[in-house]
Amino acid sequence: MPDDAIVPSESSGPVSVFDMLKVGVGPSSSHTLGPWRAAEHFVDRLRSSGRLGQLAAIRVELYGSLAKTGRGHGTGVALMMGLCGHDPETCDTAEVQRIGPEAVESGRLLIGGEQSVPFVRDRDLAFDSTEVLVGHPNGMRFVATFDDGSTADQVSYSVGGGFVSHEGEDVGDDSVDETKRLPCPIESAAELLAWCDDGRSIADVVRANERVWRTDAEIDVDLIRIRNVMRDCAFRGVSTTGTLPGGLDVARRAHDLHRALMGPIEIDDSATWLDNLRHADLGFGDTVRFVSCLALAVNEENAAFGRVVTAPTNGAAGVIPAVLFHHLAQLDPAEWERTDIDAECVRFLLVAGEIGAIFKKRATISAAMGGCQAEIGVSSAMAAAALTECLGGTVAQSLMAAEIAMEHHLGMTCDPIGGLVQVPCIERNAMGAIKAISATHLALAGEPELARVTLDDVIDTMWATAQDMNQKYKETAEGGLATRISVSVVEC
Ligand code: SF4
Repeated sequence: MPDDAIVPSESSGPVSVFDMLKVGVGPSSSHTLGPWRAAEHFVDRLRSSGRLGQLAAIRVELYGSLAKTGRGHGTGVALMMGLCGHDPETCDTAEVQRIGPEAVESGRLLIGGEQSVPFVRDRDLAFDSTEVLVGHPNGMRFVATFDDGSTADQVSYSVGGGFVSHEGEDVGDDSVDETKRLPCPIESAAELLAWCDDGRSIADVVRANERVWRTDAEIDVDLIRIRNVMRDCAFRGVSTTGTLPGGLDVARRAHDLHRALMGPIEIDDSATWLDNLRHADLGFGDTVRFVSCLALAVNEENAAFGRVVTAPTNGAAGVIPAVLFHHLAQLDPAEWERTDIDAECVRFLLVAGEIGAIFKKRATISAAMGGCQAEIGVSSAMAAAALTECLGGTVAQSLMAAEIAMEHHLGMTCDPIGGLVQVPCIERNAMGAIKAISATHLALAGEPELARVTLDDVIDTMWATAQDMNQKYKETAEGGLATRISVSVVEC
């Protein structure tokens, strides 16, 4: 790493692939999932201090980027869900649509599922776009008032990808366990390459580290669960028509694209849909359309508050499923029969997760810190490395693929129209997926030892670019397309 003030923005230390691939609810990991988790954390603190039963009122103040694009990103509804004790991984996603109107009708919120307090959305969720808290552009303060008039508060930061940190609590964030000692600690692509010197693949090395948290069987089961959430999400996306919420009137397109390619969907389960991919007879042009269709499908679901896998963020959730399922669809029926499909998916996700973790440790996965290069760029790099390993590339070629994918996202700004995760976000997932596949094939045909730029070089350049980037291009909706096109956002 060059010494000219390139300092990683987020905590280093152990990061599991399950921190990089989390089940959540759309549309944003930093503005929906992070605040949701922070609200759950605050309510847990109230409960464990024994004061939840004395709660008389609750208020949340949102600052910086959270205030500027929170309305379009569903931050308010995510906070209400978290305050009421719903978990983003297991909740009924229909509740996301109900909770706001119900709170307005009753004028109350059932905190932690047990303590009812008065709640007026415009009063008790305060968006202050004039102030930025010192810890991170995505800052929020929770204030609880008790029956006796005393108060308690918590300042939290949503630092990207659904990770959250809390002021006054230890450095780092909720998900990262600093106490774990990994057999193969990895802070850079060079270190990952070195751990593979003994002939192990990237997936082998990552699995060795993951055994600190889980058994082999648990790693496989939990990654297949992640794959299944991605599969269910893509299937819902290609099965659904209509217009996305938020006021921009964006029509869903994945359904019609899928129908044109594969015919009408005559099944109602995603497992059969995935299995049927073996019969997809895709030529080159179809492949591009198919990958784009899957990426749109996932991100249309994300924009509609559906359940997605944060990979490494919600805004970029479509890239990895699109590339993974494209990879499976490219297997001919005989190859499909020979291949352990679940094992192939696990391998893909292990590699993707580790590449994302290196970006998180060495730079950022937060658009509020680094613009869209930190979301779509990182997901494209993750997918490129994973696809390269699955296609038989060397470790060096996989890292080269990740480098190529990120190199061509450097400087990409975040400028969501209306603060909604729709335009340009949904199409950007298709572009990120296509770039990942191109990067893979360039790397497979390339010689990594001749490459002039390493993955670590490009990660450090991304971080330097993030620091140079004007704040208006960092998830504020104050620059780019966001100021060119006006829209009246309808808050959910
Ligand atoms: S423009 Fe990119 S970083 Fe910004 S919200 Fe959309 S997908 Fe996320």
